[in-house]
Amino acid sequence: MKEIYLDNNATTKVDERVFEEMRPYFCELYGNPSSMHFFGGQVQKKVDEARSRVAALLGALPDEIVFTACGTESDNAAIRSALEVFPEKRHIITSRIEHPAVLTQCRNLTKRGYRVTELNVDSEGRLDLEELKRAIDNDTALVTLMYANNETGVIFPIEEAAKIAKEHGALFHTDAVQAVGKIPLNMAESSIDMLSLSGHKLHAPKGIGVLYVRRGTPFRPLLVGGHQERGRRAGTENTASLIALGKACELAHVHMEEERVRVREMRDRLQRELTALIPNTRINGGGADRLPNTLSIAMEFVEGEGILLLLSEKGICASSGSACTSGSLEPSHVLRAMGVPFTCAHGSIRFSLSRFTTEEEIDTVIRELPPIIKRLRDMSPFGREFLAKQ
Ligand code: PLP
Repeated sequence: MKEIYLDNNATTKVDERVFEEMRPYFCELYGNPSSMHFFGGQVQKKVDEARSRVAALLGALPDEIVFTACGTESDNAAIRSALEVFPEKRHIITSRIEHPAVLTQCRNLTKRGYRVTELNVDSEGRLDLEELKRAIDNDTALVTLMYANNETGVIFPIEEAAKIAKEHGALFHTDAVQAVGKIPLNMAESSIDMLSLSGHKLHAPKGIGVLYVRRGTPFRPLLVGGHQERGRRAGTENTASLIALGKACELAHVHMEEERVRVREMRDRLQRELTALIPNTRINGGGADRLPNTLSIAMEFVEGEGILLLLSEKGICASSGSACTSGSLEPSHVLRAMGVPFTCAHGSIRFSLSRFTTEEEIDTVIRELPPIIKRLRDMSPFGREFLAKQ
């Protein structure tokens, strides 16, 4: 069975052009870019090119790009650095709907005596900048807020938030893992100090990330040892993967405008048709500014896991808005923070599209999902009651 892959916020297919770009750097051009000889020098040139390609996508300078092993490392490095830069400050601001790469670290810091403010979101997943203004003070070392949410696609007003942080002498970091490659970013006209991205979300391989660090931003490395990455991240570079990431960024840069429109149209059609065909649905974050590729749809009186399994039998890959903790299915922290009613949060499914998504695949989901929901509602006591009232 050929998969219909609509789980691109989890990970993406490596673009063939990206794969071809990295292929020679395993068995042929395997030199260490730090070596003095010509063989290492050839690789160093490609590393420089990759750095420039990533910088071009972000509107940044090449020396502001630090290669890391993943988005999680970039997030951890940014937070740890800010606290070391300001040892006298003991306060961090984040939001309740961050990815665990940020949230877990922030919560761990409370055990070490730091004050952490988790900003709320409204029912559409939107941030209230007034709450940020009230929370920030001279003790705030860092404000870290995600650019776009991985579950709902909702985009935060990051530039405004970064300005507020600057006004109060705090550093500003954004986890832009879901935003990079999907919407335009321009660090040249930004107040962001640090930004995380991850290769496998934009058609590069897993296990390569970047931390953007604005020129002049004080920074302390998480990994120390060799002098790679100008002393900001020790460890021999993952050359093949970073060269791949450079190519992926170049492709995103060239094709973003066209892809954004095409992907958004497919997402909007999926949303329109599913809400028309399935009664009692709600779009999580539907009233907010969202990434063009993400659709989180809540369907009352059904279990997300049941939907996923039945979709999977049809070859359709999506993800649910629940997290399996200690055997019980809890609605995700994102949907809970948005106050999505329990009956809806359980039946939430995320479809996330990519440049490889086709109209035919969207047609298949529109055909297959409504009967699956009907079947599950027929089986559930609440669902039967609901159907009886229809
Ligand atoms: N931040 C966000 C918003 C994400 O969606 C993810 C991955 O799902 C990460 C961070 C972690 O990235 P990585 O898998 O590269 O560690």
